Amino acid sequence: MALVLVSSRSFGVVATIGSELLEDAGFVVERIGPDERPLDAAKLARILASRQPDVLLSGAEPIPRSVLSASPSLRMVQKHGVGVDNIDLDAATELGIAVANAPGTNTEAVADLTVGFMLSLLRSVVPAAVSTRSGGWERFIGRELGRVTVGVIGTGRIGRDVISRLSGFGPRVLVCDVYEDSGFAERAGVEYVSLEKLLRESDLVTLHVPLMDETRELISAERISWMKPTAYLINIARGELVDEVALAAHLADGKIAGAAIDVFATEPPTESPLLKLDNVIATPHIGAYTVEAMENMARRCAETIIRVMRGERPENLLNRDALSRDAGS
Ligand code: NAD
Repeated sequence: MALVLVSSRSFGVVATIGSELLEDAGFVVERIGPDERPLDAAKLARILASRQPDVLLSGAEPIPRSVLSASPSLRMVQKHGVGVDNIDLDAATELGIAVANAPGTNTEAVADLTVGFMLSLLRSVVPAAVSTRSGGWERFIGRELGRVTVGVIGTGRIGRDVISRLSGFGPRVLVCDVYEDSGFAERAGVEYVSLEKLLRESDLVTLHVPLMDETRELISAERISWMKPTAYLINIARGELVDEVALAAHLADGKIAGAAIDVFATEPPTESPLLKLDNVIATPHIGAYTVEAMENMARRCAETIIRVMRGERPENLLNRDALSRDAGS
């Protein structure tokens, strides 16, 4: 019986449906236990070498070539998530190991939290709560979401879901993407502009692009300096998209008003200068953590594993060539 080794910390914690589907289909499901964490690449490679899984159901831990080649029976890595920037896709393809993710399963969860961050930032909800709890009675003056300009960077699944939620509030929405979809812009009442115009004119800037070589530090020091002193930045995509040190400096000097950060270049972000700032709402990568998203994702991961291991090629299989190599060899 094929072994699915679960290195994701969240798979199966809220929703049992994923394990049930896999076990019903004849897979053995084993978890990497809390005593074996934290997981770095060397430790994960040792675990794979000793347990020899057929499938690795992974979280955000790094999966370089050394991990992929550690288990001779490994045929698939299923990411319990959307971004696969932690997995060496080229190495997986060369080794004939299929890689899949679970796109769209947490779109609503991330979009909800993004709009929650927008309202929290505009109304100073976190500083007001902290102040009131410590005996203060300060009246914080906010701004209304319907009266500001929102800049959405990345009009993929999550960016579009954020925009659809914003339609109930009615702000002006500027968007930017490497692929401009004029039909979408017309339907949604948004305007595609350059990244520079978006950053210069928006009161709230929110990031919804994947981490790739081209997007690493997309929000560089120079680009942060284009933002208005009253503007807020939301990063719920990937920490490495932003120059964190430059962002912290701009926030500390009041060159931008505040930020909500769910993702960090290093997680947990023990050393991040952003954690020391009162005008930052920092959360522990909880964008996808809703009961509904966890259930969707567990089901999608299990169904994808079952399909790929049967030789099918679902749409969320990211390296079809891996299976061609497999089939040809
Ligand atoms: P998606 O692929 O549907 O959309 C990404 C969009 O970014 C696409 O439209 C793409 O054209 C655009 N893009 C790529 N490069 C760009 C660039 N240089 N400039 C402008 N636009 C660019 O992805 P999605 O489902 O919307 O997810 C986006 C990202 O959100 C994921 O890659 C993941 O890293 C992150 N995410 C985070 C969490 C969390 O828990 N915080 C959860 C889910 C997803």
